[in-house]
Amino acid sequence: MPKYHIWTIGCQMNKAESERLGSCFEELGYHLTDDAGEADLIVLNSCVVRQSAESRVINKLQALKALKKTKPDTVLALTGCLVNSEIDQLKKSYPHVDHFFKPGDSPPWLERADSEITLPQQPSPAVFVPIIQGCDNFCSYCIVPYRRGRERSRAVSEITGEVRELVCRGAREVTLLGQNVDSYGHDLPGRPDLADLLAGLNDIDGLARIRFLTNHPKDMSPRLIEAVAGLDKVCEMISLPVQSGSNEILKAMRRDYTVEQYRELINLIRRKIPGVALSTDVIVGFPAESDSQFRQTADLLSEIKFDTVHVAAYSPRTGTLAEREFEDNIPPPEKKERLNIIEQLQEKIAAEINTRLLGKTVEILVEGKTRGKWQGRTRTDKLVFFSDSNNHQGQMVKIRVNKTSPWALQGKIETTENQEE
Ligand code: SF4
Repeated sequence: MPKYHIWTIGCQMNKAESERLGSCFEELGYHLTDDAGEADLIVLNSCVVRQSAESRVINKLQALKALKKTKPDTVLALTGCLVNSEIDQLKKSYPHVDHFFKPGDSPPWLERADSEITLPQQPSPAVFVPIIQGCDNFCSYCIVPYRRGRERSRAVSEITGEVRELVCRGAREVTLLGQNVDSYGHDLPGRPDLADLLAGLNDIDGLARIRFLTNHPKDMSPRLIEAVAGLDKVCEMISLPVQSGSNEILKAMRRDYTVEQYRELINLIRRKIPGVALSTDVIVGFPAESDSQFRQTADLLSEIKFDTVHVAAYSPRTGTLAEREFEDNIPPPEKKERLNIIEQLQEKIAAEINTRLLGKTVEILVEGKTRGKWQGRTRTDKLVFFSDSNNHQGQMVKIRVNKTSPWALQGKIETTENQEE
C-alpha cells in the first residue's frame, strides 16, 4: 500500500490546500503516514510570508536531500508560496525535488481527467473552503500577491455545491478563506459579493455555522456587516488586520486606511453585531518605526481590546516594495522587545475577556480530542476543552465554563443536542 506524507507550514489557506491534496492521494489509494521516512510520496506545502517560515522550509528541503539519496524512488514535490514563477531557478537550487507546483494548482504528475476538486470522504466537523485566491492589494511588506497572483474568485454555485457536499459527508461548520475575502466576486459575472455568498450558504440544511477570513479594513463593506448581523448561521467574529496604530506606518505599509477609519469600522461592527469577537494582526519593527509609533499600536490594542492578536516582527521579503525602498533598521533585539510587549499586553486583555465567561454556559461544536480531552469552539471562536467518556465528535454541546486562561476555556458538559430534543 503506497504511503504519502504532507508537511504544511503557514496560513489556513495552505492547511486547506494540504487537506485537499490529502483527499486526492487517498482517492488514488495512498495512505497517510506521519513519518516522511516511510512515505512513497512527500509534499512540502511552503510559506514565505516571513523569513523564519522560509528558513524552516529550506531546512526541511535540505533534510530531505539525505532521504532522497537513500530512497531515490520517493517522489518529492514542493508547493505553496515558495513556488514562484521562476521554477527553473528552483529546479537548479533543489535538484532532488521531482515536482514543483504553484499554490492551489493540482499536482502536475496526477493528470486527472476531470478538474474537479477532491473533497474528503469524512471531513472534520469544521472545514476550510477557499473562495478567492491571490491578492490585488500589494501592501508594501507582503510577498503574497507576487506568489499567489491576482485575485481569482470561485463561482458562487461551485462553492455552495461544495459546501452542500461537505455537509452531506458530515461537516457542520465552514470557514471561507481568502487573502482578502472582501474582494470576493468582483471578477465574476454579475459581481456577487461576500454578503451574497453568505446568504446562499445560510440556506443550506444541516450547516450550522459559517465563518470567513481575512478581511481588509479598506474593503470591508457595511453590507457585509449587515449580512453578518442578519444571517443566523454566520458567526459573530471578525478578523480585521490593523497592522499598525500609526498613520505614518500605515501609509508606508500601503494599507490605504487611517487609524481613525479603522476605529470607525470597529465601532460600526460592534454596534451592528452585539457580542462580536474581534481578532487582528500586527507587525512591529517596520522600517523606521519609532518608539512613539510603536506605542500608538500598543495604545490602539489597549483601547479596542481584541479577543485575539497575531503579532509578528517585520522581516524584509525580497521583491517587495518595502524591501526595495526602506532600510530594515530596527535592530532584532528591539523588534523582539516590541513583540514581547504586545504579546504580554494581549495576554492580559484576553485573560480579562475570557474571565467574564467564568460560570457561563457556552455552546461549542466538538471538533475532536487533544491529549484525552474533547475540544471545540464557540461561535466567537473561543477554544473550549472538556472531559467526558461519551463520544461527542461533531456534536453541538453546552459547556459550563469553570476555568479560563488567555488562550482557552475549560468546563463541564451540561447538555448535548440529543438531550435538548
Ligand atoms: S491584503 Fe496586503 S497583507 Fe493581505 S495578502 Fe494582500 S498584500 Fe498581503
